[in-house]
Amino acid sequence: MTILGKSQEQWYASHPLIRDLVALKEISWFNPAIAPVAEALGDVGLTAADVADASARLSRFAPYIMRVFPETAASGGIIESGIRPLPVLQALLGQRHSLPEQGGTLWLKADCHLPISGSIKARGGIYEILKHAEDLALAGGLLQLDDDYAVLDSDEARAFFGQYKIAVGSTGNLGLSIGIMSASLGFQVTVHMSADARQWKKDKLRSHGVTVVEYASDYSVAVEEGRKQAESDPSCHCVDDENSINLFLGYAVAAQRLKGQLAAADIRVDVEHPLFVYLPCGVGGGPGGVAFGLKLIFGDAVHCIFAEPTHSPCMLLGVYTDEHDALSVQDFGIDNITAADGLAVGRASGFVGRAMQRLLDGYYTVSDEELFRLLALMERTEGIRLEPSALAGVPGMVRVLSERQGYHARIGLSAERQARATHLVWATGGGMVPPDEMEAYLARGRELLQD
Ligand SMILES: *Cc1c(COP(=O)(O)O)cnc(C)c1O
Repeated sequence: MTILGKSQEQWYASHPLIRDLVALKEISWFNPAIAPVAEALGDVGLTAADVADASARLSRFAPYIMRVFPETAASGGIIESGIRPLPVLQALLGQRHSLPEQGGTLWLKADCHLPISGSIKARGGIYEILKHAEDLALAGGLLQLDDDYAVLDSDEARAFFGQYKIAVGSTGNLGLSIGIMSASLGFQVTVHMSADARQWKKDKLRSHGVTVVEYASDYSVAVEEGRKQAESDPSCHCVDDENSINLFLGYAVAAQRLKGQLAAADIRVDVEHPLFVYLPCGVGGGPGGVAFGLKLIFGDAVHCIFAEPTHSPCMLLGVYTDEHDALSVQDFGIDNITAADGLAVGRASGFVGRAMQRLLDGYYTVSDEELFRLLALMERTEGIRLEPSALAGVPGMVRVLSERQGYHARIGLSAERQARATHLVWATGGGMVPPDEMEAYLARGRELLQD
């Protein structure tokens, strides 16, 4: 049996790291092809103006969001999360991995506490629905650009959106964001869910009036069903997680806001004070969009690194081989079974992989066992409760500081710059996990720590 015309042994010969991926080893790969922003930003085909447009749209919707989701009142209807330092966890990681003391400072971006859906999907997923709703409402004469969008919280608006359908395939968190937002606007929304999606997510969606269809197979089948539903029905909009520009732009808006938060915390970011950002990657839209936004804002001073489970290293495989979405982890016999819900993706977005190929510094994999250990350690040291996926960024600082692939030289990371660096773990989810489920995660992590 061959894979894109080559035997598995031939792949191992041309791309030796695949052998480690297949063996489910934890690996790091620092991209030899990174290029300066001045050269590579054009690969994306989107600009700062596109991100500013998305940001302005979110501001227009803020009065509506604030009204329908009162938990966003403090931020005026802007869906945003905070940052905080992780001093105790950093000290512990330093001991555990004998890190240099002058390695910079570890911080957390708490997307786990984003309002409405408790994960990073509250950025892209919700943005895409708002964009679609605005397009329909403007075309249908329901809304003018300078209206107070709080008028969308009305029976008239809900009846208008009720003529339209939304479909999405999801392992869970995307479905939550799309489902809750669409249902509150009044859309008829169907979430096609894969077998690995958690029961509580399905229950929560149904409680919001969302139609949930369950499949016995994985994510790609659920996505395919969502697509089929949309194709046969012109009133149906299918959210395409793999290729959606709107999702991507919704995520990218995070960067401008982060800039303000870092400044408020007195954290400098420039070439002498590098910022490393560790982003858990599933299909790639979330981390890709955030990384694109960060590159627009911080240029070559920011270094974005993607983290994936050892059982689902689809983006690493796609970029490393330069085959992108032509290859899936299953082609190599990797099973794509992981407790990291949002990251259980076997085939990466070809759009994101190609667009961001020269802008991402590296990729690494983490075992499920380590995700659970880190989950328990995060809770013990910092009192923060995350879902397994959201821990994938934690080992990033260790991977960067201990790398031996010539990466430090490639990016000019001297000892002085290392000491001034900020390492930001993007904690992508966990805020909505029910307490009993969270206790089970913690128990598993504590048990693994004792072995
Ligand atoms: C979806 C998700 C991600 C990754 O986003 P992609 O766009 O799929 O790459 C990371 N963490 C969590 C918790 C998620 O739900």
